Amino acid sequence: MNTQATTSHDADTVLQPDVDAVVVGAGFTGLYMLIKLREKGFTARCIEAAPGVGGTWYWNRYPGARCDIESMQYSYQFDEELQQEWEWPERYAAQPDILAYIEHVADRYDLNRDITFETRVEAAAFDEDSNTWLVETDGGETIRARYFIMSVGCLSVPIKPRFEGAEDFGGEVYQTSVWPEEPVDFKGKRVGVIGVGSSAVQSVPLIAEEAEHVYVYQRTPNFVVEAQNRPLGKEEAAAIKADYKRYRQKAWEVQSAFLFPRHDESVFDLSADDRKARLDEQWEVGGLPFLGAFSDILTNDDANREVTDYWESRMRAVVRDPKVADLLTPDEPIGCKRLCSGTNYYEVYNRDNVTLVDVLDSGIERLTPTGLRAAGQDFDLDVIIYATGFDAMTGGVTKIAITGTGGQTIQEKWANGPRTYIGLTISGFPNMFNMVSAGSPSVLATMVTAAEQHGDWVADCLDFMRENGHTRIDATPEAEADWVAEVDRAASVSLRVKCDSWYVGSNVEGKARVFAPYIGGWPPYVAKCEAIVANGYEGFTLTT
Ligand code: NAP
Repeated sequence: MNTQATTSHDADTVLQPDVDAVVVGAGFTGLYMLIKLREKGFTARCIEAAPGVGGTWYWNRYPGARCDIESMQYSYQFDEELQQEWEWPERYAAQPDILAYIEHVADRYDLNRDITFETRVEAAAFDEDSNTWLVETDGGETIRARYFIMSVGCLSVPIKPRFEGAEDFGGEVYQTSVWPEEPVDFKGKRVGVIGVGSSAVQSVPLIAEEAEHVYVYQRTPNFVVEAQNRPLGKEEAAAIKADYKRYRQKAWEVQSAFLFPRHDESVFDLSADDRKARLDEQWEVGGLPFLGAFSDILTNDDANREVTDYWESRMRAVVRDPKVADLLTPDEPIGCKRLCSGTNYYEVYNRDNVTLVDVLDSGIERLTPTGLRAAGQDFDLDVIIYATGFDAMTGGVTKIAITGTGGQTIQEKWANGPRTYIGLTISGFPNMFNMVSAGSPSVLATMVTAAEQHGDWVADCLDFMRENGHTRIDATPEAEADWVAEVDRAASVSLRVKCDSWYVGSNVEGKARVFAPYIGGWPPYVAKCEAIVANGYEGFTLTT
Protein backbone atom coordinates (compact mmCIF):
# COMPACT_ATOMS: atom_id res chain seq x y z
CA MET A 1 0.00 0.00 0.00
CA ASN A 2 1.34 3.36 -1.06
CA THR A 3 -0.95 5.63 0.89
CA GLN A 4 0.66 7.91 3.42
CA ALA A 5 -1.36 9.49 6.26
CA THR A 6 0.01 12.60 7.94
CA THR A 7 -1.30 15.44 10.11
CA SER A 8 -0.40 18.90 8.89
CA HIS A 9 -2.33 21.43 10.92
CA ASP A 10 -4.18 22.15 14.12
CA ALA A 11 -7.88 21.36 13.70
CA ASP A 12 -8.92 24.23 16.06
CA THR A 13 -7.53 26.90 13.77
CA VAL A 14 -8.92 25.52 10.56
CA LEU A 15 -11.27 27.68 8.53
CA GLN A 16 -14.50 25.94 7.71
CA PRO A 17 -15.55 25.76 4.08
CA ASP A 18 -18.78 27.38 2.84
CA VAL A 19 -19.64 24.19 0.99
CA ASP A 20 -18.08 20.78 0.69
CA ALA A 21 -17.58 21.09 -3.06
CA VAL A 22 -17.57 23.58 -5.87
CA VAL A 23 -18.39 21.89 -9.16
CA VAL A 24 -17.49 23.80 -12.31
CA GLY A 25 -19.80 23.11 -15.24
CA ALA A 26 -23.35 21.77 -15.52
CA GLY A 27 -23.01 19.35 -18.40
CA PHE A 28 -23.47 15.60 -18.15
CA THR A 29 -20.50 15.25 -15.78
CA GLY A 30 -21.25 18.16 -13.45
CA LEU A 31 -24.90 17.21 -13.09
CA TYR A 32 -24.07 13.64 -12.21
CA MET A 33 -21.53 14.87 -9.68
CA LEU A 34 -24.22 17.01 -8.05
CA ILE A 35 -26.53 14.00 -7.83
CA LYS A 36 -23.85 11.88 -6.19
CA LEU A 37 -22.70 14.57 -3.78
CA ARG A 38 -26.24 15.10 -2.59
CA GLU A 39 -26.82 11.37 -2.29
CA LYS A 40 -23.77 11.12 0.00
CA GLY A 41 -24.84 14.10 2.10
CA PHE A 42 -22.27 16.62 0.84
CA THR A 43 -23.15 20.24 0.11
CA ALA A 44 -22.22 21.65 -3.28
CA ARG A 45 -22.36 24.74 -5.48
CA CYS A 46 -22.19 24.29 -9.21
CA ILE A 47 -21.02 27.27 -11.26
CA GLU A 48 -22.06 27.34 -14.91
CA ALA A 49 -21.26 29.96 -17.56
CA ALA A 50 -24.38 29.28 -19.66
CA PRO A 51 -27.90 30.39 -18.74
CA GLY A 52 -28.96 26.73 -18.62
CA VAL A 53 -27.69 23.20 -18.09
CA GLY A 54 -26.22 21.06 -20.88
CA GLY A 55 -22.58 22.07 -21.26
CA THR A 56 -21.46 21.32 -24.79
CA TRP A 57 -25.07 20.49 -25.71
CA TYR A 58 -26.19 23.92 -24.58
CA TRP A 59 -23.75 25.78 -26.81
CA ASN A 60 -23.43 23.61 -29.92
CA ARG A 61 -26.87 24.22 -31.42
CA TYR A 62 -25.79 24.69 -35.02
CA PRO A 63 -27.97 23.10 -37.70
CA GLY A 64 -27.44 19.33 -37.79
CA ALA A 65 -25.65 19.06 -34.43
CA ARG A 66 -26.03 15.52 -33.19
CA CYS A 67 -24.17 12.91 -31.23
CA ASP A 68 -21.93 10.28 -32.83
CA ILE A 69 -22.63 7.73 -30.07
CA GLU A 70 -25.96 5.91 -30.13
CA SER A 71 -28.70 7.47 -28.00
CA MET A 72 -29.43 4.28 -26.10
CA GLN A 73 -25.85 4.41 -24.86
CA TYR A 74 -25.26 8.16 -24.71
CA SER A 75 -27.46 8.55 -21.64
CA TYR A 76 -27.28 7.95 -17.89
CA GLN A 77 -27.57 4.44 -16.54
CA PHE A 78 -27.62 5.09 -12.77
CA ASP A 79 -31.41 5.15 -12.49
CA GLU A 80 -33.33 2.26 -14.01
CA GLU A 81 -36.56 4.24 -13.98
CA LEU A 82 -35.00 7.14 -15.86
CA GLN A 83 -33.50 4.95 -18.55
CA GLN A 84 -36.72 2.97 -18.92
CA GLU A 85 -38.92 6.05 -19.20
CA TRP A 86 -36.92 8.20 -21.58
CA GLU A 87 -37.61 7.71 -25.28
CA TRP A 88 -35.06 8.63 -27.91
CA PRO A 89 -36.50 9.40 -31.35
CA GLU A 90 -33.41 8.58 -33.40
CA ARG A 91 -30.50 6.17 -33.41
CA TYR A 92 -28.19 9.17 -32.99
CA ALA A 93 -29.84 11.96 -31.02
CA ALA A 94 -29.95 15.50 -32.32
CA GLN A 95 -28.83 18.37 -30.08
CA PRO A 96 -32.37 19.53 -29.16
CA ASP A 97 -33.26 16.01 -27.98
CA ILE A 98 -30.08 15.68 -25.93
CA LEU A 99 -30.59 19.10 -24.37
CA ALA A 100 -34.22 18.21 -23.55
CA TYR A 101 -32.95 15.04 -21.86
CA ILE A 102 -30.35 16.91 -19.79
CA GLU A 103 -32.95 19.51 -18.77
CA HIS A 104 -35.30 16.70 -17.81
CA VAL A 105 -32.59 15.16 -15.61
CA ALA A 106 -31.91 18.52 -13.93
CA ASP A 107 -35.64 18.90 -13.17
CA ARG A 108 -36.18 15.32 -12.13
CA TYR A 109 -33.42 15.44 -9.51
CA ASP A 110 -34.06 19.09 -8.62
CA LEU A 111 -30.49 20.09 -9.45
CA ASN A 112 -30.96 23.71 -10.54
CA ARG A 113 -31.21 24.94 -6.95
CA ASP A 114 -27.50 24.19 -6.50
CA ILE A 115 -26.41 25.79 -9.78
CA THR A 116 -25.40 29.41 -10.27
CA PHE A 117 -25.89 30.17 -13.98
CA GLU A 118 -24.30 32.81 -16.19
CA THR A 119 -21.26 32.85 -13.96
CA ARG A 120 -17.71 31.80 -14.68
CA VAL A 121 -15.05 30.56 -12.33
CA GLU A 122 -12.04 32.75 -12.98
CA ALA A 123 -9.58 31.58 -10.36
CA ALA A 124 -9.10 28.97 -7.69
CA ALA A 125 -6.30 28.67 -5.16
CA PHE A 126 -5.56 25.94 -2.66
CA ASP A 127 -5.21 27.22 0.89
CA GLU A 128 -2.65 24.92 2.47
CA ASP A 129 -3.47 26.01 6.02
CA SER A 130 -7.08 24.96 5.89
CA ASN A 131 -6.96 22.36 3.11
CA THR A 132 -9.67 24.20 1.24
CA TRP A 133 -10.02 25.86 -2.13
CA LEU A 134 -10.84 29.52 -2.60
CA VAL A 135 -12.84 29.77 -5.77
CA GLU A 136 -13.41 33.16 -7.38
CA THR A 137 -16.18 33.86 -9.86
CA ASP A 138 -16.66 36.68 -12.33
CA GLY A 139 -19.68 37.62 -10.23
CA GLY A 140 -17.26 38.85 -7.58
CA GLU A 141 -17.94 35.98 -5.22
CA THR A 142 -15.31 33.92 -3.42
CA ILE A 143 -16.42 30.50 -2.29
CA ARG A 144 -14.41 28.42 0.14
CA ALA A 145 -14.82 24.72 -0.56
CA ARG A 146 -13.11 21.57 0.64
CA TYR A 147 -13.16 20.10 -2.86
CA PHE A 148 -12.78 21.70 -6.27
CA ILE A 149 -14.32 19.59 -9.00
CA MET A 150 -13.68 20.54 -12.61
CA SER A 151 -16.41 19.24 -14.92
CA VAL A 152 -15.64 21.58 -17.76
CA GLY A 153 -15.73 19.20 -20.73
CA CYS A 154 -13.12 18.20 -23.27
CA LEU A 155 -14.43 20.29 -26.16
CA SER A 156 -15.70 23.43 -24.50
CA VAL A 157 -13.23 26.20 -25.31
CA PRO A 158 -13.88 27.35 -28.88
CA ILE A 159 -11.08 28.50 -31.12
CA LYS A 160 -11.79 31.48 -33.31
CA PRO A 161 -8.77 32.30 -35.46
CA ARG A 162 -8.02 36.01 -35.74
CA PHE A 163 -8.05 36.84 -39.43
CA GLU A 164 -6.79 40.15 -40.67
CA GLY A 165 -9.68 42.46 -41.48
CA ALA A 166 -12.17 40.50 -39.34
CA GLU A 167 -13.55 43.75 -37.90
CA ASP A 168 -14.23 45.08 -41.42
CA PHE A 169 -16.61 42.32 -42.47
CA GLY A 170 -20.11 43.79 -42.62
CA GLY A 171 -22.12 40.56 -42.73
CA GLU A 172 -23.29 38.09 -40.11
CA VAL A 173 -20.71 36.04 -38.20
CA TYR A 174 -21.43 32.79 -36.34
CA GLN A 175 -19.43 30.10 -34.65
CA THR A 176 -20.79 26.55 -34.52
CA SER A 177 -19.74 26.08 -30.88
CA VAL A 178 -21.52 29.21 -29.60
CA TRP A 179 -24.55 29.15 -31.84
CA PRO A 180 -27.44 31.54 -31.06
CA GLU A 181 -30.67 30.21 -29.58
CA GLU A 182 -32.77 31.80 -32.32
CA PRO A 183 -32.69 29.94 -35.65
CA VAL A 184 -30.45 31.56 -38.27
CA ASP A 185 -32.10 32.27 -41.62
CA PHE A 186 -29.82 31.37 -44.54
CA LYS A 187 -32.41 31.87 -47.29
CA GLY A 188 -31.00 33.74 -50.26
CA LYS A 189 -27.65 34.23 -48.55
CA ARG A 190 -24.08 33.49 -49.58
CA VAL A 191 -22.50 31.59 -46.74
CA GLY A 192 -18.83 30.83 -46.08
CA VAL A 193 -18.00 27.97 -43.72
CA ILE A 194 -14.42 27.83 -42.42
CA GLY A 195 -13.31 24.33 -41.43
CA VAL A 196 -14.30 20.78 -42.32
CA GLY A 197 -14.34 18.99 -38.95
CA SER A 198 -17.41 17.25 -37.49
CA SER A 199 -19.21 20.54 -36.84
CA ALA A 200 -18.94 21.60 -40.49
CA VAL A 201 -19.65 18.08 -41.73
CA GLN A 202 -22.94 18.08 -39.85
CA SER A 203 -24.02 21.62 -40.63
CA VAL A 204 -23.00 22.17 -44.27
CA PRO A 205 -25.58 19.78 -45.83
CA LEU A 206 -28.43 21.51 -43.98
CA ILE A 207 -27.20 25.03 -44.61
CA ALA A 208 -26.83 24.17 -48.32
CA GLU A 209 -30.51 23.25 -48.50
CA GLU A 210 -31.42 26.82 -47.57
CA ALA A 211 -28.64 29.14 -48.66
CA GLU A 212 -28.17 30.67 -52.08
CA HIS A 213 -24.59 29.45 -52.12
CA VAL A 214 -22.23 27.81 -49.63
CA TYR A 215 -18.45 28.08 -49.89
CA VAL A 216 -16.63 25.54 -47.74
CA TYR A 217 -13.06 26.58 -46.94
CA GLN A 218 -11.02 23.45 -46.37
CA ARG A 219 -7.45 23.36 -45.11
CA THR A 220 -7.05 19.63 -44.36
CA PRO A 221 -9.63 17.08 -45.58
CA ASN A 222 -11.25 14.72 -43.10
CA PHE A 223 -12.60 11.20 -43.34
CA VAL A 224 -16.38 11.19 -43.19
CA VAL A 225 -18.36 7.97 -42.87
CA GLU A 226 -22.12 7.95 -43.43
CA ALA A 227 -23.70 7.85 -39.97
CA GLN A 228 -26.59 5.62 -41.11
CA ASN A 229 -28.79 7.54 -38.72
CA ARG A 230 -32.49 6.58 -38.66
CA PRO A 231 -35.54 6.78 -36.45
CA LEU A 232 -35.17 4.48 -33.47
CA GLY A 233 -37.79 1.77 -33.75
CA LYS A 234 -39.94 1.13 -30.67
CA GLU A 235 -39.15 -2.59 -30.84
CA GLU A 236 -35.43 -1.92 -31.05
CA ALA A 237 -35.54 0.28 -27.96
CA ALA A 238 -37.82 -2.17 -26.15
CA ALA A 239 -35.41 -5.03 -26.81
CA ILE A 240 -32.60 -3.07 -25.17
CA LYS A 241 -34.80 -1.91 -22.30
CA ALA A 242 -35.91 -5.49 -21.59
CA ASP A 243 -32.50 -6.02 -20.02
CA TYR A 244 -30.91 -2.57 -20.05
CA LYS A 245 -28.65 -3.44 -17.15
CA ARG A 246 -27.03 -6.32 -19.02
CA TYR A 247 -26.73 -4.17 -22.14
CA ARG A 248 -24.89 -1.48 -20.19
CA GLN A 249 -22.73 -4.09 -18.54
CA LYS A 250 -21.70 -5.46 -21.93
CA ALA A 251 -20.68 -1.93 -22.96
CA TRP A 252 -18.45 -1.68 -19.88
CA GLU A 253 -16.58 -4.73 -21.14
CA VAL A 254 -15.43 -3.15 -24.42
CA GLN A 255 -12.49 -0.82 -25.06
CA SER A 256 -14.60 2.26 -25.83
CA ALA A 257 -17.49 1.55 -23.43
CA PHE A 258 -19.59 1.77 -26.61
CA LEU A 259 -21.30 -1.32 -27.99
CA PHE A 260 -21.29 -1.90 -31.72
CA PRO A 261 -20.47 -4.81 -33.98
CA ARG A 262 -16.70 -5.20 -33.81
CA HIS A 263 -14.51 -7.93 -35.22
CA ASP A 264 -11.37 -9.45 -33.78
CA GLU A 265 -9.68 -10.46 -37.03
CA SER A 266 -6.85 -8.60 -38.70
CA VAL A 267 -7.52 -7.10 -42.13
CA PHE A 268 -5.12 -9.75 -43.46
CA ASP A 269 -6.95 -12.71 -41.94
CA LEU A 270 -9.57 -12.41 -44.68
CA SER A 271 -9.34 -12.94 -48.43
CA ALA A 272 -9.75 -9.83 -50.59
CA ASP A 273 -13.39 -10.73 -51.32
CA ASP A 274 -14.25 -11.43 -47.70
CA ARG A 275 -12.49 -8.26 -46.63
CA LYS A 276 -14.58 -6.24 -49.05
CA ALA A 277 -17.73 -7.99 -47.83
CA ARG A 278 -16.83 -7.19 -44.23
CA LEU A 279 -16.20 -3.54 -45.05
CA ASP A 280 -19.50 -3.34 -46.97
CA GLU A 281 -21.28 -4.78 -43.96
CA GLN A 282 -19.57 -2.41 -41.52
CA TRP A 283 -20.26 0.56 -43.82
CA GLU A 284 -23.95 -0.18 -43.34
CA VAL A 285 -23.43 -0.05 -39.57
CA GLY A 286 -21.90 3.36 -40.29
CA GLY A 287 -20.33 6.17 -38.28
CA LEU A 288 -17.60 5.55 -35.71
CA PRO A 289 -18.39 1.80 -35.61
CA PHE A 290 -17.03 1.53 -39.16
CA LEU A 291 -13.61 1.22 -37.52
CA GLY A 292 -14.79 -1.97 -35.79
CA ALA A 293 -14.50 -3.87 -39.08
CA PHE A 294 -11.05 -5.19 -38.13
CA SER A 295 -8.92 -5.20 -35.01
CA ASP A 296 -5.78 -3.67 -36.50
CA ILE A 297 -7.06 -0.60 -38.35
CA LEU A 298 -5.58 1.77 -35.78
CA THR A 299 -2.39 -0.16 -35.08
CA ASN A 300 -1.09 -1.40 -38.44
CA ASP A 301 -0.24 0.97 -41.30
CA ASP A 302 -0.84 -1.62 -44.01
CA ALA A 303 -4.17 -2.67 -42.54
CA ASN A 304 -5.17 0.96 -42.28
CA ARG A 305 -4.19 1.58 -45.90
CA GLU A 306 -6.58 -1.18 -47.06
CA VAL A 307 -9.45 0.40 -45.17
CA THR A 308 -8.50 3.89 -46.32
CA ASP A 309 -8.60 2.68 -49.94
CA TYR A 310 -12.03 1.17 -49.38
CA TRP A 311 -13.24 4.44 -47.83
CA GLU A 312 -11.90 6.35 -50.83
CA SER A 313 -13.82 4.13 -53.25
CA ARG A 314 -17.04 4.86 -51.32
CA MET A 315 -16.40 8.59 -51.33
CA ARG A 316 -15.53 8.65 -55.04
CA ALA A 317 -18.70 6.73 -55.84
CA VAL A 318 -20.62 9.72 -54.48
CA VAL A 319 -18.65 12.80 -55.53
CA ARG A 320 -19.14 13.38 -59.24
CA ASP A 321 -16.27 15.79 -59.92
CA PRO A 322 -12.96 13.86 -59.65
CA LYS A 323 -11.04 17.07 -58.89
CA VAL A 324 -13.30 17.76 -55.93
CA ALA A 325 -12.93 14.12 -54.85
CA ASP A 326 -9.13 14.55 -54.98
CA LEU A 327 -9.40 17.54 -52.68
CA LEU A 328 -11.63 15.60 -50.29
CA THR A 329 -9.12 12.75 -49.95
CA PRO A 330 -7.01 12.96 -46.78
CA ASP A 331 -3.34 12.10 -46.80
CA GLU A 332 -3.23 10.31 -43.44
CA PRO A 333 -4.49 7.08 -41.86
CA ILE A 334 -8.24 6.75 -41.47
CA GLY A 335 -9.29 7.15 -37.83
CA CYS A 336 -6.14 9.03 -36.89
CA LYS A 337 -8.17 12.17 -36.35
CA ARG A 338 -11.57 11.47 -34.85
CA LEU A 339 -13.69 10.03 -37.64
CA CYS A 340 -16.53 12.30 -38.73
CA SER A 341 -19.96 10.76 -38.72
CA GLY A 342 -22.04 12.53 -41.36
CA THR A 343 -25.30 12.49 -43.23
CA ASN A 344 -25.18 13.32 -46.95
CA TYR A 345 -21.90 15.13 -46.52
CA TYR A 346 -20.19 14.12 -49.76
CA GLU A 347 -23.48 14.44 -51.68
CA VAL A 348 -23.41 18.14 -50.88
CA TYR A 349 -20.48 18.67 -53.24
CA ASN A 350 -22.64 17.56 -56.18
CA ARG A 351 -24.93 20.52 -55.62
CA ASP A 352 -24.61 23.58 -57.86
CA ASN A 353 -24.83 25.88 -54.86
CA VAL A 354 -21.85 24.39 -52.98
CA THR A 355 -18.19 25.10 -53.71
CA LEU A 356 -15.24 23.48 -51.95
CA VAL A 357 -12.36 25.93 -51.68
CA ASP A 358 -8.91 24.52 -51.00
CA VAL A 359 -7.07 26.87 -48.62
CA LEU A 360 -4.28 24.49 -47.69
CA ASP A 361 -1.61 26.66 -49.30
CA SER A 362 -3.08 30.13 -48.97
CA GLY A 363 -5.01 29.91 -45.72
CA ILE A 364 -7.79 32.44 -45.26
CA GLU A 365 -5.83 35.46 -46.42
CA ARG A 366 -8.09 38.08 -44.87
CA LEU A 367 -11.66 39.09 -44.25
CA THR A 368 -12.96 42.02 -46.28
CA PRO A 369 -15.97 44.34 -45.84
CA THR A 370 -17.93 42.12 -48.24
CA GLY A 371 -16.56 38.65 -47.57
CA LEU A 372 -13.15 37.09 -47.51
CA ARG A 373 -10.07 36.49 -49.59
CA ALA A 374 -8.62 33.01 -49.94
CA ALA A 375 -6.78 31.00 -52.56
CA GLY A 376 -6.06 34.24 -54.41
CA GLN A 377 -9.74 35.01 -54.89
CA ASP A 378 -12.28 37.37 -53.33
CA PHE A 379 -15.54 35.78 -52.17
CA ASP A 380 -18.63 37.91 -51.57
CA LEU A 381 -20.42 36.58 -48.52
CA ASP A 382 -23.42 37.53 -46.40
CA VAL A 383 -22.55 35.11 -43.61
CA ILE A 384 -19.29 33.67 -42.29
CA ILE A 385 -19.37 30.61 -40.03
CA TYR A 386 -16.37 29.58 -38.00
CA ALA A 387 -16.36 25.79 -37.58
CA THR A 388 -12.79 25.97 -36.38
CA GLY A 389 -12.74 23.65 -33.39
CA PHE A 390 -11.66 23.79 -29.77
CA ASP A 391 -8.71 24.07 -27.43
CA ALA A 392 -9.55 20.48 -26.58
CA MET A 393 -8.88 18.31 -23.54
CA THR A 394 -6.98 20.87 -21.45
CA GLY A 395 -8.34 24.29 -22.50
CA GLY A 396 -11.25 24.28 -20.05
CA VAL A 397 -8.83 23.72 -17.18
CA THR A 398 -5.93 25.93 -18.19
CA LYS A 399 -8.09 28.97 -18.94
CA ILE A 400 -8.82 29.22 -15.21
CA ALA A 401 -6.11 30.63 -12.92
CA ILE A 402 -5.69 27.54 -10.75
CA THR A 403 -2.97 27.58 -8.11
CA GLY A 404 -1.94 24.49 -6.18
CA THR A 405 0.58 23.96 -3.42
CA GLY A 406 3.75 26.05 -3.27
CA GLY A 407 2.19 28.64 -5.59
CA GLN A 408 2.44 26.38 -8.63
CA THR A 409 -0.11 27.19 -11.32
CA ILE A 410 -1.82 24.65 -13.55
CA GLN A 411 -0.38 26.46 -16.55
CA GLU A 412 3.15 25.83 -15.20
CA LYS A 413 2.33 22.28 -14.25
CA TRP A 414 0.96 21.43 -17.69
CA ALA A 415 3.37 23.53 -19.76
CA ASN A 416 4.71 20.36 -21.42
CA GLY A 417 1.36 18.61 -21.61
CA PRO A 418 -1.20 17.38 -19.10
CA ARG A 419 0.14 15.42 -16.12
CA THR A 420 -2.39 13.54 -14.04
CA TYR A 421 -2.87 10.50 -11.90
CA ILE A 422 -5.68 8.50 -13.58
CA GLY A 423 -6.82 11.73 -15.22
CA LEU A 424 -8.83 12.59 -12.15
CA THR A 425 -6.14 14.09 -9.97
CA ILE A 426 -3.06 16.26 -10.36
CA SER A 427 -0.16 16.02 -7.95
CA GLY A 428 0.30 19.33 -6.15
CA PHE A 429 -3.37 20.23 -6.57
CA PRO A 430 -4.90 18.51 -3.56
CA ASN A 431 -8.65 18.03 -3.22
CA MET A 432 -9.10 18.91 -6.89
CA PHE A 433 -10.72 16.47 -9.28
CA ASN A 434 -10.42 16.81 -13.02
CA MET A 435 -13.41 14.95 -14.39
CA VAL A 436 -13.57 13.13 -17.75
CA SER A 437 -10.64 14.94 -19.26
CA ALA A 438 -6.96 14.50 -20.13
CA GLY A 439 -5.36 11.36 -18.73
CA SER A 440 -8.58 9.31 -18.67
CA PRO A 441 -10.46 7.63 -21.54
CA SER A 442 -12.92 10.58 -21.76
CA VAL A 443 -13.40 11.35 -25.48
CA LEU A 444 -12.37 7.80 -26.42
CA ALA A 445 -15.15 6.32 -24.28
CA THR A 446 -18.85 7.05 -24.04
CA MET A 447 -18.75 10.39 -22.25
CA VAL A 448 -21.87 9.85 -20.15
CA THR A 449 -20.59 6.49 -18.94
CA ALA A 450 -17.26 8.09 -18.13
CA ALA A 451 -19.09 10.85 -16.23
CA GLU A 452 -20.82 8.29 -14.06
CA GLN A 453 -17.68 6.26 -13.42
CA HIS A 454 -15.78 9.38 -12.36
CA GLY A 455 -18.71 10.71 -10.33
CA ASP A 456 -18.98 7.44 -8.43
CA TRP A 457 -15.23 7.28 -7.82
CA VAL A 458 -15.03 10.84 -6.50
CA ALA A 459 -18.14 10.53 -4.32
CA ASP A 460 -16.80 7.30 -2.79
CA CYS A 461 -13.42 8.94 -2.23
CA LEU A 462 -14.97 11.91 -0.42
CA ASP A 463 -17.05 9.53 1.65
CA PHE A 464 -13.92 7.55 2.55
CA MET A 465 -12.14 10.74 3.57
CA ARG A 466 -15.03 11.87 5.75
CA GLU A 467 -15.27 8.44 7.39
CA ASN A 468 -11.55 8.49 8.16
CA GLY A 469 -11.23 12.14 9.15
CA HIS A 470 -9.04 13.08 6.18
CA THR A 471 -9.21 16.64 4.92
CA ARG A 472 -6.71 16.43 2.10
CA ILE A 473 -5.90 14.04 -0.71
CA ASP A 474 -3.07 14.53 -3.16
CA ALA A 475 -1.57 12.23 -5.76
CA THR A 476 2.07 11.45 -5.11
CA PRO A 477 4.53 12.67 -7.78
CA GLU A 478 5.66 9.05 -8.27
CA ALA A 479 2.15 7.72 -8.90
CA GLU A 480 1.52 10.57 -11.30
CA ALA A 481 4.78 9.96 -13.18
CA ASP A 482 3.90 6.26 -13.55
CA TRP A 483 0.46 7.13 -14.89
CA VAL A 484 1.83 9.70 -17.34
CA ALA A 485 4.21 6.99 -18.60
CA GLU A 486 1.26 4.59 -18.99
CA VAL A 487 -0.76 7.20 -20.92
CA ASP A 488 2.24 7.72 -23.25
CA ARG A 489 2.87 3.99 -23.62
CA ALA A 490 -0.75 3.33 -24.57
CA ALA A 491 -0.69 6.11 -27.17
CA SER A 492 2.63 5.01 -28.66
CA VAL A 493 1.13 1.80 -30.10
CA SER A 494 -1.73 3.66 -31.82
CA LEU A 495 -1.67 5.24 -35.27
CA ARG A 496 -3.63 8.08 -33.72
CA VAL A 497 -0.45 9.82 -32.61
CA LYS A 498 0.74 10.03 -36.20
CA CYS A 499 -1.29 12.93 -37.51
CA ASP A 500 -2.15 16.44 -36.40
CA SER A 501 -5.38 16.61 -34.43
CA TRP A 502 -6.95 18.08 -31.33
CA TYR A 503 -6.17 14.74 -29.60
CA VAL A 504 -2.50 15.81 -29.65
CA GLY A 505 -3.15 19.53 -29.27
CA SER A 506 -1.63 20.46 -32.63
CA ASN A 507 -4.60 22.66 -33.55
CA VAL A 508 -3.55 25.19 -30.89
CA GLU A 509 -0.45 27.20 -31.63
CA GLY A 510 2.28 26.69 -29.05
CA LYS A 511 0.53 23.84 -27.27
CA ALA A 512 2.73 20.91 -26.27
CA ARG A 513 2.16 17.90 -28.52
CA VAL A 514 0.89 15.16 -26.23
CA PHE A 515 -1.79 12.56 -26.89
CA ALA A 516 -4.08 13.74 -24.10
CA PRO A 517 -6.75 11.08 -23.49
CA TYR A 518 -5.90 7.64 -22.13
CA ILE A 519 -6.14 5.19 -25.03
CA GLY A 520 -5.38 2.02 -23.07
CA GLY A 521 -9.05 1.06 -23.04
CA TRP A 522 -12.04 1.35 -20.76
CA PRO A 523 -11.85 -1.97 -18.85
CA PRO A 524 -8.15 -1.58 -17.92
CA TYR A 525 -8.81 2.01 -16.87
CA VAL A 526 -11.76 1.06 -14.65
CA ALA A 527 -9.71 -1.81 -13.20
CA LYS A 528 -6.92 0.64 -12.35
CA CYS A 529 -9.34 3.02 -10.60
CA GLU A 530 -10.82 0.13 -8.63
CA ALA A 531 -7.42 -1.26 -7.68
CA ILE A 532 -6.38 2.12 -6.30
CA VAL A 533 -9.37 2.07 -3.94
CA ALA A 534 -8.94 -1.59 -3.05
CA ASN A 535 -5.35 -0.81 -2.04
CA GLY A 536 -6.41 1.99 0.30
CA TYR A 537 -6.11 4.86 -2.20
CA GLU A 538 -2.78 3.71 -3.49
CA GLY A 539 -0.68 6.49 -4.96
CA PHE A 540 -2.27 9.21 -2.84
CA THR A 541 -1.19 11.04 0.28
CA LEU A 542 -4.10 11.43 2.65
CA THR A 543 -3.89 13.99 5.43
CA THR A 544 -5.96 14.04 8.59
P1 NAP B 1 -12.21 20.25 -35.62
O1 NAP B 1 -12.45 18.82 -35.89
O2 NAP B 1 -11.02 20.62 -34.83
O3 NAP B 1 -12.23 20.99 -37.01
C1 NAP B 1 -11.85 22.32 -37.11
C2 NAP B 1 -11.73 22.67 -38.57
O4 NAP B 1 -11.41 24.04 -38.69
C3 NAP B 1 -10.61 21.89 -39.26
O5 NAP B 1 -11.02 21.56 -40.55
C4 NAP B 1 -9.47 22.90 -39.28
O6 NAP B 1 -8.54 22.69 -40.29
C5 NAP B 1 -10.26 24.16 -39.53
N1 NAP B 1 -9.53 25.37 -39.18
C6 NAP B 1 -9.12 25.75 -37.96
N2 NAP B 1 -8.48 26.92 -38.04
C7 NAP B 1 -8.48 27.27 -39.34
C8 NAP B 1 -7.94 28.37 -40.06
N3 NAP B 1 -7.27 29.34 -39.44
N4 NAP B 1 -8.11 28.41 -41.40
C9 NAP B 1 -8.78 27.42 -42.02
N5 NAP B 1 -9.30 26.35 -41.40
C10 NAP B 1 -9.15 26.27 -40.07
O7 NAP B 1 -13.46 20.93 -34.85
P2 NAP B 1 -15.00 20.48 -34.82
O8 NAP B 1 -15.52 20.26 -36.17
O9 NAP B 1 -15.72 21.47 -33.99
O10 NAP B 1 -14.97 19.09 -34.09
C11 NAP B 1 -14.18 18.89 -32.93
C12 NAP B 1 -14.61 17.63 -32.24
O11 NAP B 1 -15.84 17.90 -31.57
C13 NAP B 1 -14.91 16.46 -33.13
O12 NAP B 1 -13.78 15.77 -33.53
C14 NAP B 1 -15.82 15.64 -32.25
O13 NAP B 1 -15.13 14.89 -31.30
C15 NAP B 1 -16.62 16.73 -31.54
N6 NAP B 1 -17.84 16.93 -32.33
C16 NAP B 1 -18.60 15.84 -32.52
C17 NAP B 1 -19.70 15.94 -33.30
C18 NAP B 1 -20.49 14.72 -33.52
O14 NAP B 1 -20.47 14.15 -34.57
N7 NAP B 1 -21.15 14.25 -32.54
C19 NAP B 1 -20.05 17.13 -33.88
C20 NAP B 1 -19.24 18.23 -33.67
C21 NAP B 1 -18.12 18.12 -32.90
P3 NAP B 1 -7.21 21.81 -40.02
O15 NAP B 1 -7.70 20.40 -39.85
O16 NAP B 1 -6.37 22.02 -41.19
O17 NAP B 1 -6.62 22.34 -38.75
